[in-house]
Amino acid sequence: MSQLLAGKTAVILGVANRWSIAYAIADAYRREGAKLILTYQGERQKATVEELGAELGAAKVLNCDVTKAEELEGLVAELAGETLHAVVHSIAFANREDLSRPFLETSRDGYLLAQEVSSYSLVSVSRALSPLMTEGGSIMTLTYLGSVRVIPNYNVMGVAKAALEACVRYLASDLGAKGIRVNAISAGPIKTASARGIKDFSKVLDGVAAVAPLKRNTETAEVADTAVFLGSALGRGVTGNVIYVDAGFQVMGLQQPE
Ligand code: NAD
Repeated sequence: MSQLLAGKTAVILGVANRWSIAYAIADAYRREGAKLILTYQGERQKATVEELGAELGAAKVLNCDVTKAEELEGLVAELAGETLHAVVHSIAFANREDLSRPFLETSRDGYLLAQEVSSYSLVSVSRALSPLMTEGGSIMTLTYLGSVRVIPNYNVMGVAKAALEACVRYLASDLGAKGIRVNAISAGPIKTASARGIKDFSKVLDGVAAVAPLKRNTETAEVADTAVFLGSALGRGVTGNVIYVDAGFQVMGLQQPE
């Protein structure tokens, strides 16, 4: 059977463990024949991500904390000679206290940290890696409905995701002439390490499964297959978009009582 990503090289940022959305994307990209380059965030993650990279047959597993300019420069240096076709940005962070107390209490530092890691990094990563996308390609990021609706405890991360989605549109405009598309996948809630930092996250999962048109939650494999679509020629006409992979939850208004 033909593979949708044969002959393409993808850099995937954001694998922390087997439950990471980025891991599912890497696995789907492997299935579709892409050459994989994974990054990890610092020494603490190195061994785990190297092990996962070996399982996935990744060509390279490289260090890159996106808040450190020198590490992003180091990543570009390590990638010299590569032609990239896809970049998957699956990175976010906010302080735990900012995902539990009222949004009104968000500190300046907490606000800026969430923006730096979760939104600005798409800009810095795109600026660093797009010059290696000399044959055109696809940059994608992961976002969440909390950018456009109030979701309990998502707080500062919702504001960062709103900025991230705006970055997608401006980057799509800047990079389109080079044949580089930029999109976001808005995934429904999925139990990952990051999601566990959000207070009462399991209530969100239960609420979505009850209300979403498909009457269930989102699977990481569904998000990963959309990332394959965006990274492949099938997605060639799509840029500047936020694509919802959320069992349809975002279309619902009032849920009628049974
Ligand atoms: P995860 O914890 O597995 O992944 C988050 C990743 O961000 C980790 O690999 C972590 O190392 C990385 N990261 C954080 N700070 C970094 C830094 N300074 N430099 C480099 N990497 C850094 O959780 P996940 O749920 O797979 O999250 C991936 C993306 O998906 C995030 O953008 C998240 O907001 C988004 N998302 C998640 C859900 C969900 O419910 N899990 C829903 C929609 C969108």
